[in-house]
Amino acid sequence: MDTPPNKDFEVAIVGGGVSGLVCAIALQRAGVPVQLFEAAAAFGEIGAGIGLGSNAVRVLKAVGLLDEVLKKIHPSELRTRGFIYYNGLGDNQEVFAVGYDAHPEDKGIGMHRAIFLEALVPVLEPQRAHFNKRCTSIVRSAQGSRRLVINFQDGTSHETDVVIGADGIKSAVRSFVLDAPDDRVAFSNTVAYRGLVPYKDLQEAGFKTPVVQDPACFVGPSKHFILFPIKNGEVINVVAFVARYDIPIGSEKLPPGTPWVETVPKEAMEKEYEGWGPDIAALMKCMPETPSKWSIHVVHPPLDSFVKGHVALIGDAAHAMLPHLGAGAGQGLEDAYIISRLLGHPETQGDNLEAVLETYSRIRRPRAQMVWSMSRAAGAVYDWQGAGGSDAEFMREELRSHYDYVWQYDIEADVEHAISELRTKGAYVAHSV
Ligand SMILES: Cc1cc2nc3c(=O)[nH]c(=O)nc-3n(C[C@H](O)[C@H](O)[C@H](O)COP(=O)(O)OP(=O)(O)OC[C@H]3O[C@@H](n4cnc5c(N)ncnc54)[C@H](O)[C@@H]3O)c2cc1C
Repeated sequence: MDTPPNKDFEVAIVGGGVSGLVCAIALQRAGVPVQLFEAAAAFGEIGAGIGLGSNAVRVLKAVGLLDEVLKKIHPSELRTRGFIYYNGLGDNQEVFAVGYDAHPEDKGIGMHRAIFLEALVPVLEPQRAHFNKRCTSIVRSAQGSRRLVINFQDGTSHETDVVIGADGIKSAVRSFVLDAPDDRVAFSNTVAYRGLVPYKDLQEAGFKTPVVQDPACFVGPSKHFILFPIKNGEVINVVAFVARYDIPIGSEKLPPGTPWVETVPKEAMEKEYEGWGPDIAALMKCMPETPSKWSIHVVHPPLDSFVKGHVALIGDAAHAMLPHLGAGAGQGLEDAYIISRLLGHPETQGDNLEAVLETYSRIRRPRAQMVWSMSRAAGAVYDWQGAGGSDAEFMREELRSHYDYVWQYDIEADVEHAISELRTKGAYVAHSV
């Protein structure tokens, strides 16, 4: 249920991906006047799956969106999740499992991205969403004014009090926060081949590893394969990674003109996995003839702050990371939750916005950057590049601690911490609300 508008300031969100959309809905529900500006002609997502850990599920629940998502998926898709790890080489033996035993009450979801969007979009009041609005710059409305103007590519503009940049890794808002030309997008030296494969095709090709219930990860030297079920196990989302560890992140760019995402002949992918086990060979037969190849970029070096004045970044715009813990969208949802809880707080008004946004950054940045670092470290573990190489016990313990950090997180404690910090600073007056 939405709270009636109760604020003396307005918020504009730039970018309507999952982070921007969830943030807009959360602000709408909290009675904060909010408008969302999306570059594309409609809300849209790529044709791939997405996994949300229990931390992200808790955010959806807190914003009142979990039921909307559950209406769109099979009830069994919300369940205790973990990964079973298999050796990609040899005869694809199981090596270990992570994530099932410790916290059976914590549940995650795997689903098609389009379904996720279908659940969210109807909740946002349609008059709040504006399409074909590509932000090109943000400027102050006048000397000395705290109001901001967002300029769009179509020559129009929008004036507001707060801008939330949810415009993804190629963010146009980030340069305002940096107060300098943006230099924070780096090639991660990792590529991912992606495709959706019907499970029955896998069976027919002789694929043996169980993947209908639990996500599987096939590990090996400098490469790994993730398979997770969507559509109640009828379709398997495949992401196959190939990484270089001899090049530091950010030190080499893609050759000029190389797109970040392209379709490639299946043979390119097959070549990378020559000599891997029989299930990988069977899987290759089922991949689309032209899988997509993603050259994965990240935000690096990290930002010193997610905020400047009344402009804040959330999601990939702030901390795009390697996807090895399936945690990027979840971190965007955590950002959206904290910033909307703070902006929606009864004591947040036009005159303390700067302190409120600063506190958002102070609370969110360490956690998001830690997940960034752990995501990178997890990729190295899968690819036998961690300190323990291919030792199963080492890998299991490393990954367990990373997943625990991502999934077992008390975000309500962060909200409380932020509120108490705002009281200590005098930004919120010291009475209980
Ligand atoms: C291979 C791979 C697998 C992944 N798997 C997972 C997973 O299983 N689980 C998980 O949690 N995360 C996963 N991620 C990460 C996840 O996809 C991202 O973290 C998430 O989509 C980021 O959402 P966002 O809303 O912040 O940004 P985006 O999804 O990039 O959305 C940005 C939006 O802003 C719009 N926009 C861009 N520029 C402008 C502009 N100038 N003006 C206006 N609008 C603009 C775009 O059109 C877009 O709609 C994966 C990533 C990759 C690469």
